[in-house]
Amino acid sequence: MIDELIRQWDGFAVVIAYDEPTKVWLFIAMHDNTLGPCTGGTRMKLYRSPEDGLYDAMRLAEGMTYKWAGVDIPFGGGKGVIALAEPLAYGDRRRILKRYGRLVESLRGGFTTGQDLGTTPEDMLTIAEETRFVHGIDYATKSALDPGPFTAHGVFVGIRAAVAHTSGTDDLSGKTVLIQGAGDVGLPLGRALAEAGATLLVSDLDDEKARALADEVNGTVVSPDDVYGTKCDVYAPCAVGATVNAATIRNLACSIVAGSANNQLAEPEDADRLLKRGILYAPDYVINGGGATAFGLVAQGITDNTELMDRVSGIGPRLAAIFAEAGEHNESPVDAARRLVERTLGRA
Ligand code: NAD
Repeated sequence: MIDELIRQWDGFAVVIAYDEPTKVWLFIAMHDNTLGPCTGGTRMKLYRSPEDGLYDAMRLAEGMTYKWAGVDIPFGGGKGVIALAEPLAYGDRRRILKRYGRLVESLRGGFTTGQDLGTTPEDMLTIAEETRFVHGIDYATKSALDPGPFTAHGVFVGIRAAVAHTSGTDDLSGKTVLIQGAGDVGLPLGRALAEAGATLLVSDLDDEKARALADEVNGTVVSPDDVYGTKCDVYAPCAVGATVNAATIRNLACSIVAGSANNQLAEPEDADRLLKRGILYAPDYVINGGGATAFGLVAQGITDNTELMDRVSGIGPRLAAIFAEAGEHNESPVDAARRLVERTLGRA
């Protein structure tokens, strides 16, 4: 029930609208505005029920609070969800996007947004016809900022920081990295790691993608079923969430887990399972914050690619500090990262 979800949520506010002709629900979840306006992408997809759409918005908004604080960009956590009950009829897409745009505008900047799963740069331009609070769109070329290369760079510097923590040097030559998922993030990440001297193992459900990256970087393809038992220094999950769980942790043959996937741990207890096995874990919302960092900076008017990449590089020292603090307390980096977020929110 929607009222039950709202009662149980620790967020700041939710805004809900319903469009009767299309049977579409619009949700804007604003989790925390301590650092700045609640900001996050707008997702459009089919949901089994409005409750599922609202739950997704709340969960993702909370994740954005952590992500912004984790990369120290002055935004709060928010997320928009356009929850479809059935595929939209021709012409309804534009109508619903404009309605959503008016809803965003009514918040007068309390929520700002960008492209996400199920929305396109064209959709963002349609929303922007009604509101000033859309970021990450190049109006001249009608294209959206591609976060993949920035996220990949953040993961790259994060892997270096993890290797430095475990071996005393961030030199990647002689290190083996297994990339799971050769997509928007995995591909540029693989190239950067190979350039830095690492040996690459590549796995993807799409064998052609795995093979293309492996061929390019002189690496080896690993079958998706063999990922968890394959010996490597770094396992980089760059495909889907929850691949780090009680069953896979038993088999992992690496000393570091560091990749871009969201929600890598299936449940909170997995952080301590990794700690017990002596595997260093780079908290996902910190190491994969490169795209968010770039998005936040572009929203502040910074568009120079070199400057954006430089700022994303800050993820390396941030993770190094998290690893050091976790080491001092003999705890998981997840605990140290949570304290960093709480300190950042408290400082504001
Ligand atoms: P993508 O869709 O471009 O690539 C994902 C790749 O993983 C695809 O090639 C797919 O075939 C493969 N894949 C899917 N399931 C797999 C499995 N079980 N085993 C092996 N391969 C599998 O996605 P992306 O943009 O590269 O993002 C990768 C991950 O990083 C996602 O979890 C995403 O949520 C997260 N992430 C991405 C960004 C970004 O900037 N793109 C930012 C933050 C987090």
